[in-house]
Amino acid sequence: METEPVTLTSNETCLLSAKPRIAFFDFAGCEGDQLQIANLEEKLLDILAHVEVVSFREIKTGHGDDYDIAFVEGSITRPEDEERIKEIRSKAKVLVALGACAAIGGINCLKNFMGEGFYRDVVYGPQAGWYRTYAARPLSAVVTVDAEIPGCPIDRLEFARVVKELLLGRTPWLPDYPVCVECKMAGNVCRFDMGKMCLGIITRAGCGACCVTEGAHCWGCRGLFPTANLDAARQVMDRAGFDRRQVQDLMRFFLGDTRAGL
Ligand code: SF4
Ligand code: SF4
Ligand code: SF4
Repeated sequence: METEPVTLTSNETCLLSAKPRIAFFDFAGCEGDQLQIANLEEKLLDILAHVEVVSFREIKTGHGDDYDIAFVEGSITRPEDEERIKEIRSKAKVLVALGACAAIGGINCLKNFMGEGFYRDVVYGPQAGWYRTYAARPLSAVVTVDAEIPGCPIDRLEFARVVKELLLGRTPWLPDYPVCVECKMAGNVCRFDMGKMCLGIITRAGCGACCVTEGAHCWGCRGLFPTANLDAARQVMDRAGFDRRQVQDLMRFFLGDTRAGL
């Protein structure tokens, strides 16, 4: 979705500090969200005019421990992750969860429905005993999160807008309505009318319903919108004749940590 540029106008004053220091961190994830930010290209230069980047290993070397805003990507999946995220939290005035893994646990939570021995063997093979992991969880399960940028990956222009709102001292706005709204605006045929499942009815909008527009369905990567009606969604699924296993598999793809059974 196209959003307003990050450049502050003469009437807009940065409320955090003269030039806030920002840092990026990653836990269990693919770093696809940071890549999206690196791909902002000329808009990234706009952002850099208003902040000082002290740590962002996808675009620069070096690391600083003095920062105002921490953007954190990935899920917490190991006991030692908890210590690290708590330390990041203690240093940051504002902590932002970047992407589905950080904000809602995301795709990492698929393993929470498997036996630990199974997924450790699949991932690490003979070295399975070298690593300690536990059930994947979002950052908010361990520390206070001030804002989130949803999606897998995030929308880079939404990132630019959220940064601008943070610099202005505002709580970043996120759509509080379902993907279906944007799907209808895009003129798509509803997947339920095609005999297919779709989680757009319970998922936070903001992506323009891009997956449906491209011929697929919504997997729920932006998380539940605040007033998502799971009872109504269950009725829609039942009426369409989907069995519980199919629905459960789709729900677990991104929304496993919500435990929102349908
Ligand atoms: S949310 Fe998606 S893009 Fe971001 S780290 Fe997780 S898997 Fe990668
Ligand atoms: S296809 Fe999915 S997102 Fe689009 S209207 Fe139907 S349920 Fe909603
Ligand atoms: S349509 Fe659904 S799965 Fe696709 S980007 Fe939007 S929220 Fe994520």
